[in-house]
Amino acid sequence: MSRRRQVYEGKAKILYEGPEPGTLIQYFKDDATAFNAQKKGTINGKGVINNRISEYVFTRLAHIGIPTHFIRRLNMREQLVRQVEIIPIEVIVRNVAAGSLTKRLGIEEGEPLPHTLIEYCYKDDALGDPFVSEEEIACFNWASHEEMQDISSMAIRINDFLCGMFAAIGIRLIDFKLEFGRIWDNDFSRTILADEISPDGCRLWDIATGEKLDKDRFRRDLGGEEQAYQEVARRLGLLQDDGQSPGEVLDMSAHRGRLRSSPKPKK
Ligand code: UDP
Repeated sequence: MSRRRQVYEGKAKILYEGPEPGTLIQYFKDDATAFNAQKKGTINGKGVINNRISEYVFTRLAHIGIPTHFIRRLNMREQLVRQVEIIPIEVIVRNVAAGSLTKRLGIEEGEPLPHTLIEYCYKDDALGDPFVSEEEIACFNWASHEEMQDISSMAIRINDFLCGMFAAIGIRLIDFKLEFGRIWDNDFSRTILADEISPDGCRLWDIATGEKLDKDRFRRDLGGEEQAYQEVARRLGLLQDDGQSPGEVLDMSAHRGRLRSSPKPKK
């Protein structure tokens, strides 16, 4: 058992106090929730895979100049991150109609959007993370005008980069969620990317078949969620065909389920 001080427990992650001031340890669980936590379950090995995928994505984004909270991965389920003051807004970026947009506006799932949409939701579990306007965000001072400018320009750059990154491995980026945080330096604050980017918070469809490779498999009881998350990691080069991370021996005791391998292609 860990003797570290737990700072926060969310639906898919736990935050512990980090080794130095201003740092936290982000622990990735296998727990999965959907529909504002009305549906609960477990996706075996999800935490291990999301830790790896998020490390990879945040590292690539840092290379194009996006400031992020990620410092380094510590082990299979944990990463060291900078402590931020989370801005209480979920930033949703959409390229293709899916999910709540289709329900709210009656648009058919899979309809490409004329241009990328950015939407904001107020982070409040009790209210079910309601959709909010930029006027409401300003009115209730959840984020400043400058912060919203930084957030929207980073969201567009992240989307452009991720669309290309996923297209290169045969995946269409339908939509995704981002969270940002503030880092204080005396009276000044900087906005940086926080949380995670993984199949939990993205819709990812196979370009050729349209197959869903994300949490919609769990939300809609499609089955095969473990394999779908592994497939994304495998295509990103983070898993070998036998389910092992390249360059490291996986400690299988660190997660409950064994990572199942995708079938080897027939030669
Ligand atoms: N999303 C998320 N957390 C949330 C809400 C949405 O990660 O609390 C992600 C979701 O996985 C999808 C995108 O944001 O990739 C858009 O979600 P949508 O608004 O369509 O809501 P949903 O249909 O997932 O409830």
